[in-house]
Amino acid sequence: MTYSLTRSLKILTSSIIKTDEQLYKYTYTETGGAADIYVEAGTIEDTAAVIKFAKEHNLPVTYLGNGSNIIIRDGGIRGIVVSLLELNDITVADNTLIAESGAAIIDASQTALQHGLSGLEFACGIPGSVGGAVYMNAGAYGGEVKDCLKHVTAINEMGDFVTLTLDELELGYRTSRVQTEHLVVVSAEFELSADKDYADIKAVMDDLTEKRETKQPLEYPSCGSVFQRPPGNFAGKLIQDAGLQGHRIGGVEVSKKHAGFMVNVDDGTASDYEELIHHVQDTIQERFGVVLHREVRIIGDKLEK
Ligand code: FAD
Repeated sequence: MTYSLTRSLKILTSSIIKTDEQLYKYTYTETGGAADIYVEAGTIEDTAAVIKFAKEHNLPVTYLGNGSNIIIRDGGIRGIVVSLLELNDITVADNTLIAESGAAIIDASQTALQHGLSGLEFACGIPGSVGGAVYMNAGAYGGEVKDCLKHVTAINEMGDFVTLTLDELELGYRTSRVQTEHLVVVSAEFELSADKDYADIKAVMDDLTEKRETKQPLEYPSCGSVFQRPPGNFAGKLIQDAGLQGHRIGGVEVSKKHAGFMVNVDDGTASDYEELIHHVQDTIQERFGVVLHREVRIIGDKLEK
């Protein structure tokens, strides 16, 4: 069945198609089972064609950016997984930076710097793609995608192209209309500012990079902050106060360096991650009456025992 579907997908002349592709290779946590069908989209048109194909064959489609905010369960993902990382052009004209969805937001930030444009400094250490950053309204150190995004081109579930302005995207704290309507972002246009010079922009980025390297356990696989910030509080502080740093399940532990992170220290699995996440949520609710909501996305099937 998967084989014949894959043969039909060969109409996508610019894309790479694989079956039973292991997804742990594409996630920052280094966990996750296989995708039935894995497509590395080579063009925007191919991306739209995959969506139409999936609709015709009643197959679910999952989009993957840089895999830095996702835990894919050990049983993998049914249907088609589309990686957008090959769509990674970045162009600049005047104060406008246009990036395809698979471009690293770090590269977009560096390109802005090279052109003496300010606005994307906050993103200089966020390891996601531009599409993933829009999807999550990624942010750091007081800045977020919402502050400089102008509009995006996306494809809807019917395979049709749509353009959404900043207002139409309804970006909130780690939320967007891209999530609720299962759109796929193919490119994003950012409006930046030329009112700072290169040295000032670089100084801000260097400062943020140093903060990140000092505070975050970047030496281990992780998915960044596991939980959203609860109102009036910090997830990391609550986890630290509960004495959970270093708590380990299987090969995954609450980071000793940054309590908001969970690091894969010894061949941990997605199921280790999920168990640890539930343990931390339960403990924090019992101890402080605070509900921790996940920031990281968990998708796919559990491994059948
Ligand atoms: P993925 O993990 O690949 O996917 C995340 C979600 O976005 C999935 O549901 C996926 O389906 C969807 N998606 C991806 N691309 C598209 C697309 N083109 N169209 C539609 N949907 C799409 N986040 C912050 O906000 N701030 C930080 O400071 C920060 N620091 C981090 C530090 C570390 C060490 C790590 C590992 C992560 C950090 N993150 C941070 C989390 C993560 O980098 C961001 O959420 C990032 O925006 C995710 O992008 P991605 O391409 O990796 O998305």
